[in-house]
Amino acid sequence: MAKAFAKGLLLSALFSLLAACNDPQSRQIDIDGKTMGTFYSVKVSGDIAISPQQLRRQIDAVLERANDDISTYRADSVLSRFNQSRSADPQPIPRGMADIILMAQRIGRDTGGAMDITVGPLVNLWGFGPDKRVVKAPDARQIDAAKQNVGLQHLKLLSDSRGEWLQKDLPNMYVDLSTLGEGYGADELVRLMARNGITNYLVSVGGAVSSRGVNGQGKPWRVAIQKPTDRENAVQALVDLQGYGISTAGSYRNYFEQDGHRYSHVIDPTTGRPIDHRLVSATVIAPTALEADGWDTGLMVLGSEKALKLAEEKGLAVYLISKTDEGFSAVMTPQFKAFLLQ
Ligand code: FAD
Repeated sequence: MAKAFAKGLLLSALFSLLAACNDPQSRQIDIDGKTMGTFYSVKVSGDIAISPQQLRRQIDAVLERANDDISTYRADSVLSRFNQSRSADPQPIPRGMADIILMAQRIGRDTGGAMDITVGPLVNLWGFGPDKRVVKAPDARQIDAAKQNVGLQHLKLLSDSRGEWLQKDLPNMYVDLSTLGEGYGADELVRLMARNGITNYLVSVGGAVSSRGVNGQGKPWRVAIQKPTDRENAVQALVDLQGYGISTAGSYRNYFEQDGHRYSHVIDPTTGRPIDHRLVSATVIAPTALEADGWDTGLMVLGSEKALKLAEEKGLAVYLISKTDEGFSAVMTPQFKAFLLQ
């Protein structure tokens, strides 16, 4: 199964979708497509002043622009050109990309560096970047060498009357925005809905989802958090987002195995190695999908105890699932409980 598609399964609007399809009275438009190596979905209900064809064109244009800006899978994106450059001079970046980096710096600081968008050299070394899989885990010498090019303190975001600029003081730095891109994409779709005066929608890019209002049956959109296993698709919890964004990071669907050991795509920047603890998924609800998408990876790196403590300190809406000897156990903050449907 494709890795990014797998993440899209962690959160789904499955129930809203089935309900809408079975109801001939439903006034709902569903538009699906591919972006960022994964899938997007847009569902809108009620009266809208735009045709589904026009809406699809606008959606594709917005997501295409996001790929052109921040994809490390496109050699000519703004981000790839920044990564390829060895210059220490500030380089111009689009406003949206600056917003992502600002959020990454904030969450990076708040998680004590657990979420670090400069982790790219390590992600690539472990085979989870655009160059894909490695068949063998790297050795300590390779990990130490990659770590020399990692560190948020080496990346500066500048702003002046002409626009936004990004600057690095390590020539071989590689910024990886994969952990935030889906959230940013979902927020871009939310902004598109607002520009079109659409107030009832559920949008998702991969595992980042945002919704507002009601579905075609006049009921709240329901988003399912799924059980953390690569075999089942059972529902763990259902939430109504009420205009917020949600995202899940998991260690169990994007990994490789060597000598009976599983190596996850979530990397701990401190050790330079994939995380190796019992927290298997972190789901976050936040005012924007971008923010939720940033926190979920940071919390995954921290592990359940530190993640819960930080979530409580920061007042975050968080749902953590850990592996136990008997199966799985879940814990949530009171802020998350407020979104639960059952
Ligand atoms: P998340 O949990 O949200 O993030 C995990 C990812 O973040 C890791 O895979 C790694 O890249 C990075 N990461 C790991 N550890 C850390 C850390 N400590 N701090 C910060 N980041 C970390 N994939 C394709 O196969 N083909 C494509 O064409 C393609 N295009 C893309 C275009 C864009 C604009 C983006 C944003 C992503 C694209 N991807 C593509 C990647 C893919 O779709 C997922 O976004 C990516 O694999 C992250 O997966 P996730 O959301 O499941 O994981």
